[in-house]
Amino acid sequence: MPAPMTPTPEQTDPQEAQPEVQQQQRPPQVARPRPQQQRNPQQQRDPQQQRNPQQQRNQQQQWPDITVVIPLYNEEESLKELNQQLRSTLGRMNVRYELLFVDDGSTDHSFQILRDMKRNDRHIKVVRFRRNYGKSAALAVGFDKAQGNIVITMDADLQDDPSEIPSLKRRIEEGYDLVSGWKKVRRDPLTKTIPSRFFNFITSLLTGIKIHDFNCGLKAYRRDVVKSVKVYGELHRYIPVLAHWEGFKIGEMVVQHRARKYGKTKFGLGRFWKGFLDLLTALFTTRFLRRPLHLFGPIGAGMTLIGLLIDLWLVIEWFMGLTSLGNRPLFLAGSMLIVIGIQFISIGLLGEMISKTRTSAEEYSIREFLK
Ligand code: UDP
Ligand code: MG
Repeated sequence: MPAPMTPTPEQTDPQEAQPEVQQQQRPPQVARPRPQQQRNPQQQRDPQQQRNPQQQRNQQQQWPDITVVIPLYNEEESLKELNQQLRSTLGRMNVRYELLFVDDGSTDHSFQILRDMKRNDRHIKVVRFRRNYGKSAALAVGFDKAQGNIVITMDADLQDDPSEIPSLKRRIEEGYDLVSGWKKVRRDPLTKTIPSRFFNFITSLLTGIKIHDFNCGLKAYRRDVVKSVKVYGELHRYIPVLAHWEGFKIGEMVVQHRARKYGKTKFGLGRFWKGFLDLLTALFTTRFLRRPLHLFGPIGAGMTLIGLLIDLWLVIEWFMGLTSLGNRPLFLAGSMLIVIGIQFISIGLLGEMISKTRTSAEEYSIREFLK
């Protein structure tokens, strides 16, 4: 579903920054009381539509062209170097940009370094989590706060190369909604690259998306994608799957990959087991989220039917005096199949009810947001 075009609170801020002049010029009905605007999404859209085109253009002009979202957890050694590289690339591109660092509960000096960097650079914004919520939550809040027309995500450990940003931007301008980096030559140990190839192969097979590297940290998105895709749990590995499911056009671009210079990887061996579970989640939440009965229903109906046939056959034999039900374990098996099958169907129906009433809750708690 494409993102609604209503402005987020941050986007309306610049207008509120000069209230006296602008509000006097507006017709009185535009300055409706805020609570009323927030209660009803339809009403929330009204003021946007009532603004004249010039005002709308002004607001859009204040949005940066590019937002770079950088999730980080204990990356104190890399941050300054990364910032310099980003500045030099983005400075040459002649674009309006913002750098949105999301400190995912670092316990080293990452936040202090970011705070100092922000003092000297108005492009930098920093969100700080109260604790380590994981890369998916960090990306989710980055996507929420990002204002750029194009959003680039990259890791903070210098493994992704900021000089790829111009090419990524070009690919988006060619018409892709999401361009995923492909670390064709990977600078990682074999213990990581081999299972990762396997996962990429399986994911591509099961989802039908023809890309080689789902979990590359370096990706570019059109604004609509990040405002629409819901990343939670550890689903950051499967963002292309979620976006593809929503109908966005996915592309791929070979990118340079560098060895980790400082610190060590934040994901241990557990990544593979979690990656597998997340693949199930990604498939389930994309294909069956809105119709769980389509998954549970056929399984349950199949079991119930087999159970019924078995028991029916045995009951007929019993009527004909050929067998006694007491010494036929198969009768018990048939009955169990019926019971379990009905349970599957009930779970599917419950799922349907939940999916109709579900409201999505935020998965993170923000400690600070330096704007
Ligand atoms: N990261 C994060 N929260 C976490 C784990 C990692 O924000 O809980 C960040 C990390 O700081 C880095 C990026 O996610 O910027 C990728 O992590 P890492 O380099 O450890 O992953 P790998 O390259 O080994 O796949
Ligand atoms: Mg890394």
